[in-house]
Amino acid sequence: MSQPVYSLHNHTPFSDGAYTVDELCQAHLDLAGVKVAGIGICDHLFCTPSSREVKAERDFERLFADETRQYVKMVHEARQRWAGKLEIFCGAEINWPLNKSVLDQIRTRLDGIDYVMFGFADWAGLTQLANQARRWPCPVGLAHTEVARQFPNTSMDQVVRTLANARIFYELSSKLLPLSEDDRWFKLLPQHRVTVAVGTDTHDDLSCLRDLPVMYAYLERRGLGEKLFAPAVRKEEALSA
Ligand SMILES: [Zn+2]
Ligand SMILES: [Zn+2]
Repeated sequence: MSQPVYSLHNHTPFSDGAYTVDELCQAHLDLAGVKVAGIGICDHLFCTPSSREVKAERDFERLFADETRQYVKMVHEARQRWAGKLEIFCGAEINWPLNKSVLDQIRTRLDGIDYVMFGFADWAGLTQLANQARRWPCPVGLAHTEVARQFPNTSMDQVVRTLANARIFYELSSKLLPLSEDDRWFKLLPQHRVTVAVGTDTHDDLSCLRDLPVMYAYLERRGLGEKLFAPAVRKEEALSA
């Protein structure tokens, strides 16, 4: 593989994952047949099905401000521990339906977070996100989205153009396996300026990490090897004290 391999969708016990950051790092380094350059921790943040309902801005601060800081601290400390061995990025997975009304607050709470991925956005949601994607302080992507199913009434052409214009990256996820060589979406993607992230949505089964070389090989065959989403660590000076 010509491009650095990143694995950008891993959960830890901070949300609903079973493996710690250190265990995830070691598992990625132990993978046979593929050299992983970096991993992204991408825990569920903000409103989740198990968090309490947020009605006011003050609730949001009370429930999530401290939690988010703890999360960023955990990932940044791991980044120091693994420096020189594996890059670690700090991502966040955000449930679209549960958070679409608090996006303004979320945008101001992303200090130290390198990228966000939204799950379960419908077409109205993607449109709304696209309209504001450039106002976000970090790259914005769509998590594990089966385009034909999630946007059933919108043409793929319109979806891909919306992603390209808004610079929203698309995640190729283990959940979409097996991938067909005839998949219309993956034939269309290379014709547009959309970057693609690769993620396994690791929760409690590390065997999904073996999907990484499979997905990277597929992207290379599809001509997407030059369009991989490359995360970047946001500068520390952006962090508020
Ligand atoms: Zn989860
Ligand atoms: Zn996830």
